[in-house]
Amino acid sequence: MAINRQQARSEHTAATTHEQFSETIYGVVCAGCRNYILIDKTNCAPTCREHESCRQAYA
Ligand SMILES: [Zn+2]
Ligand SMILES: [Zn+2]
Repeated sequence: MAINRQQARSEHTAATTHEQFSETIYGVVCAGCRNYILIDKTNCAPTCREHESCRQAYA
């Protein structure tokens, strides 16, 4: 399911209470997880393992 950056941030905050994010040209990074929570290219959630770019970013 495609979600935007704002949705990804609010959903991540709701799920983890993490509230610090960095935006990069690729997507949104959570400071707490130190990992991407959203990649713009695919608009996928971190649970996605379908796309090569998702697997690499979220690995
Ligand atoms: Zn987080
Ligand atoms: Zn994906």
